[in-house]
Amino acid sequence: MMYKLLLLRYGELGLKGKNKGQFISRLEDNIRRALPGKEVLSTWGRLWVRLDDDLEETVAKLRNVFGLYSVSPVIECARDGELSAIADAAEAVLRASLPRGGTFKFESRRSDKSFPLTSPELSKTIGGMVLPRMGKEYTVDVRCPDARVDIEVRREGVYVYGEKIPMAGGLPVGTSGKGVVMLSGGIDSPVAAYLAMKRGVKVEMIHFHSFPYTSERAKEKVVDLAEVLSKYANAGVKLHVIHFTDIQMVIREKCREEYTITMMRRFMYRIAQRVAEERKAKVIFTGESVGQVASQTVESMYAINEAISMPVLRPLCCFDKEEIVAVAQRIGTFDISIRPYEDCCTIFLPEYPKIRPKLEDCLEMEKNLDVEGLIDEALAKSYVLHIRKETEV
Ligand code: ATP
Ligand code: MG
Repeated sequence: MMYKLLLLRYGELGLKGKNKGQFISRLEDNIRRALPGKEVLSTWGRLWVRLDDDLEETVAKLRNVFGLYSVSPVIECARDGELSAIADAAEAVLRASLPRGGTFKFESRRSDKSFPLTSPELSKTIGGMVLPRMGKEYTVDVRCPDARVDIEVRREGVYVYGEKIPMAGGLPVGTSGKGVVMLSGGIDSPVAAYLAMKRGVKVEMIHFHSFPYTSERAKEKVVDLAEVLSKYANAGVKLHVIHFTDIQMVIREKCREEYTITMMRRFMYRIAQRVAEERKAKVIFTGESVGQVASQTVESMYAINEAISMPVLRPLCCFDKEEIVAVAQRIGTFDISIRPYEDCCTIFLPEYPKIRPKLEDCLEMEKNLDVEGLIDEALAKSYVLHIRKETEV
């Protein structure tokens, strides 16, 4: 394999000074976790990984690391070596990029201005050496080439590369603080969790379980989802399993039937806020999407959201179902989400849920409930699962 080095690029938008340093060191940590045992190097504004005949596996593992924008396999030449070595590298990269010929150009750049040739001189010289070796099917086009070969002169060496493989983008997990995700067994909330991580949020999951009305299999489904999601965290994730049954029974007994879901969701939010506070998380993520079901109309969101003061972020609020499904399929949660196990909401679903619940009605009904006492009891019966080994210190 001709490539011994992989160049990693990250977005720098809006990053300056101290924040930039933290961003890069977090990204480096996450890369090291994704590539255990591999050498990761950091030089001015660049990250590199040494390859050992493992280009494809390495790229595959890095695809789940947020904050990386693109990678390129690179041939490294000596800074003070023969130009013919650079020409050989450029030829090899060109042939790899365009195996059947086409138009190309060489593009040089130097951050090391003490190099004897200027950038245009270097491109021209290398072009003059390589072009006679290529068949007629290769022609130079400096305006709109099929392939571009980059030659970068740096103090440490000369780097030649072609292909730019696009990566996940986003921000490194851990650079945007911490949140909790309300994770059901459905299609939407795993996608919300993924998007939260993509924006750099470190997440813990909360699942409301209605044992024995929902089975162990239903919980296993959520564990499997959390396991898939932990790939994107590049670390283990905590799953808080909340004993929700008693609260649901009380709501069924004491509240108006059409308000069952609204009241349940007010409790879910409150518990999520309690867990978040305890875990020092600052926001709650859900998979809600405006108008998708009765409990997700704007009137419902108004009546439910009032129960807590913590911000609730809804990454999917304006996604159509098909758009959510497409992401779920891409990130590997869809097939788990569609397994046919019951969910705590479907079991207690009223025949006619209120589409426009009124906040006053919720507050009135809660006067007859020991809200805080019920939450304390539920939390006392809850537990935490550690999904995948926690490798972070
Ligand atoms: P999903 O596909 O994520 O289950 P949904 O379309 O089925 O969403 P709802 O069941 O109304 O919608 O739930 C809305 C959101 O509330 C979910 O996206 C999730 O964030 C949260 N939620 C619902 N049920 C649970 C649960 N049992 N445990 C944790 N969170 C839940
Ligand atoms: Mg659901």
